[in-house]
Formats: sequence, structure tokens, C-alpha cells
Amino acid sequence: MALEFSQAVRRIPVYPAAEGYGDSDSLARLASNESAEPPLPEVVRAATRALGSLNRYPDPTNAELRRALSDRYDVPASRIAIGNGSCDVLLAAGEALLEPGAEVVYAWPSFSVYPQLSAATGARAITVQLDTEQRLDLDAMAREVTVACRLVIVCNPNNPTSTAVSTERVAAFLERIPPHVCVIVDEAYCEFRTDEDPDSSLDLLARHPNLALLRTFSKVYGLCGLRVGFALCGSEELPRALDQVRQPFFCNAVAQAAATEALKHQDAVADRVVRTVAARIEMDERLRALGLAPADSQANFCWFDLGEGRDEDEVVRGLGERGVLVRAGSSLGRPGALRVTYGLPEENRRLVDALGELL
Ligand SMILES: *Cc1c(COP(=O)(O)O)cnc(C)c1O
Repeated sequence: MALEFSQAVRRIPVYPAAEGYGDSDSLARLASNESAEPPLPEVVRAATRALGSLNRYPDPTNAELRRALSDRYDVPASRIAIGNGSCDVLLAAGEALLEPGAEVVYAWPSFSVYPQLSAATGARAITVQLDTEQRLDLDAMAREVTVACRLVIVCNPNNPTSTAVSTERVAAFLERIPPHVCVIVDEAYCEFRTDEDPDSSLDLLARHPNLALLRTFSKVYGLCGLRVGFALCGSEELPRALDQVRQPFFCNAVAQAAATEALKHQDAVADRVVRTVAARIEMDERLRALGLAPADSQANFCWFDLGEGRDEDEVVRGLGERGVLVRAGSSLGRPGALRVTYGLPEENRRLVDALGELL
């Protein structure tokens, strides 16, 4: 007997999981945009302390973490939603906003989780091509917003292409979106931006109750193993609806404690950004020396086409044989491209040397 699954399960794409988990430590893991640096000792201590109270349920209101985020970003705690990773916030937003007959608009290629929202809910996904510089085309996206639209997702900087659009452009875009449409700006990588202040988008919240800025502890804070993300919202409406569609204890006690502690160490975050940006400048230069043309990255990863006549699978396999894990563009919406996380200096050297041999 085979189980008979729901329509949603038949529609939902299988997440392209990165390889190499469970393998030896000698690999250069440049496939998942993680931080190569371990969590701060203070964060590990806070997480360890929380282990002693695991006989109790976690605080379902995430009060301490929301208060800390409220202080940091000057957004009322009632307008902050926490998630079991920011993907949890995304999927819950899909559940809260979408249904058959509704539409969701996002760019493509963009984050591989977005197609799951329409597949899970039966809504229609409208995808919009990037411009020639691999950036979001916000004008084209605004043109796709109809009366049936409930949600627009703007990934900025965009995963997998690494490029960013200015807050000024996002502001102009928001002026064109009707107030019944929720706009989620997914800023998972915003801390790595050098083209403008990563927090400049916060000002938009006061003008747009339909806006949510989605952020995460998974990237610059280096806590992806714990699963904590959050949304800073223009009103209380979305946080309330997100709590309605989820189980009460979506964020575990260790994660809440570690994330709250992590927020206290902004200097360490800034240092980490400096190291990532240095890696970005150096690696992009070396890639250009190999004749490649990486997109203008504002994130902790780069994106480039391998070029005419080069077999992507062969290159990814060749890199794997040399102990370097990267993401193939074919799993991310663009065959022939690679997405590579900026790692530690020796990992980046390994990647560039291996690519040099292979190309
Ligand atoms: C990595 C990433 C996230 C973060 O997901 P978490 O669930 O918070 O780990 C969100 N959005 C994008 C575009 C990402 O690349």
C-alpha cells in the first residue's frame, strides 16, 4: 500500500539540500552561505545555560528576544515576529496570506524556498526575470501586482545572484503597491552590504503598514544551526496572523537565549562583516583574473557564469573531488552559473586554485 498524499505535497518542490553534511572536516563548505566562524563564546555560554531548563516549555511569546530586537531596531515589540529560522516566517506568511485564487509575486532566480509558498497553498506564483545586471527588476515586479495579489517577496540582496537594489528604489516600489498586498523584503544578507546602510530600510516601516523586513540569525550571526529568524513589521497585523497559523512553541528555548545574547555583540558582528568584505574584494578579483565575471556582490557569496561551452556538472564535480563544495546554478534556477560562499582565506584560495585547474 502506498500512502495517498495531499495535492500540496504533490506540488511542493523538494529543497535542493547541499551535500557534504556528515563528511570530514577537511572540506571547504562554500555551498550554503553559512558563516565560517563559530559562534561567540558568550553565545555558546548563553545557549549552554538554557539547557538547564529544558524541562520547561520555551516562552511562546519570545518576549526577551523581541524586547532585545525592539531596542536594537527601534520597532515596537508587538510588530516583531520571531520564527524557527526566517524560512518559518516565510512559510507561515504564505499560509496566512495565500490560498487558491490568490497570487504571489517574486523574482527568479531568487531564494529556492519561495516556490514552496504557492505550492503549499494552491496560490498562483508569478515570477519576474532579473535585469541584465542580475538585479531585481522592481518596475517589472510592480507591473505584475493585480487585485488577486496578496504577497510580493523582494529578496535584497538577492540569493543566489548576490546583487542589491537601493533603498530608494525599494521605497519607490512600495509607493506603487496597494495597501492590501503584503510586501516581504527578505534581508537575510543585508548586514554584508557596503553600498548603503543595511538599516536604511527601517525608515520605510513607518510609512508602510503592509511591509515586513525579514532578517535572520543564520548568516552574519553564524547561528543557522539553531534556527532563529525575525520580521520587523509595519503593523501588528502580520505578526498576529503568523502566530495563528503556527504551533505555539515554534522557537526553542536555546535558540531564544542564544539569539538574545548574540544581539549584544554588535562589535563582533561588525568585525565579521569586515572580514567577509575583505574576502569578497579579494576573491572577486581572483575570479576576474580567471576570466570570470562575478555579479556585483553585496552579500557573503558570489555568483558567476562559467561561460560558453563549460559543463557545470563537471566543474562542480571537479571542485568536489578537490574538497570544495559549491552550489550549481542548475539547482537554483540558472544552469551554467555557480554560487560560492566567501569562506576563510585558505578556503577561498582552495576554491580559486581548483577553479584555475578546471577551467
Ligand atoms: C539563508 C536565507 C534565509 C535564512 O533562512 P533561515 O531559515 O533564517 O536560516 C532567508 N532568506 C534567504 C534569501 C536566504 O538566503
